[in-house]
Amino acid sequence: MTAEPGADRLKLVIVGGYLGAGKSTWLRHQLYAGAFPNAHLIINEAAELAVDDAIFGARYPLTLLSGGCACCEGQAAFLTSLRQLCDDRSRAAGPQGRTSIAVLETSGLADPAAIAASLRADPMLAFHLALSEIIVLVDARNAAAQLSADPLGRAQIEAADRLVITKSDLAPPSDTARLVATLQRLNPGATITAETRGEPVPLPDATGADPLPLADHATAPIRPVQIDLPKGLDWASFAVWLSALLAAHGDDIVRVKGTVRTPAGRLLLQGIRDHVQPPEILPDSDMARDGTIVLIGREIDADRVTRSLTRFAGDLL
Ligand SMILES: [Zn+2]
Repeated sequence: MTAEPGADRLKLVIVGGYLGAGKSTWLRHQLYAGAFPNAHLIINEAAELAVDDAIFGARYPLTLLSGGCACCEGQAAFLTSLRQLCDDRSRAAGPQGRTSIAVLETSGLADPAAIAASLRADPMLAFHLALSEIIVLVDARNAAAQLSADPLGRAQIEAADRLVITKSDLAPPSDTARLVATLQRLNPGATITAETRGEPVPLPDATGADPLPLADHATAPIRPVQIDLPKGLDWASFAVWLSALLAAHGDDIVRVKGTVRTPAGRLLLQGIRDHVQPPEILPDSDMARDGTIVLIGREIDADRVTRSLTRFAGDLL
């Protein structure tokens, strides 16, 4: 008899959710609270640019998968990184120092069910790895708009073992009640909780609440587009241009992310729909990708956006 297959498998937790659902923030809180001790983090950015290493710092071993979503274009790289982790683990001498759990933060474009299917189809991983939980974050403020516009949000919810509603402090309780009713209908088997800035909050009573309308049509797929900023671009005028762009195209551009060098230091810039968060100052490092932003959305024409920015900057220079 061989050993029982998978008796000591590497566990994998998938943390998914739509663009801007607060996956990095949630994961940071969980790690801080000790939810995943000795975890190896795998952070997947759909775009070329990976800035989440700046967020997580050096406390956990981290694999960055940039340049492709783990459920589709980036699947091969993702599976390779998991095989490598399993390999390192089987080489480790004793239980001490062995990674027992890997936590994947997916890109906001990922369907966790497709990731789970790719794990099952890989003979090595099917033996050495156990998918222990799919956790999907749902943003209370933007879920209604996402679910009515894009079938992906629904697919993510349906794939979850656990659903965590985030940002419910930013939505009226009646909206959150409708969201809870929707989640219960789409995925009756999942545990549903709500959190605000990493702290659990009570779920509103969803009895009698109407579920939210769902997208029933295919929309143009959401893709990342990378924009290089003109050299010498002034931060303040860039911020004005970006606000104007998002005000005009906030329905199609669902996420903005990038790092920009300014006289005040390196700034991490993040926006969700038409809302740009106050920039966060990052520790200095030699990121080759500084001065680049990634816009994630539908049918964004990179050349047009670049021309608009160049024209805008040129008018000011
Ligand atoms: Zn994908």
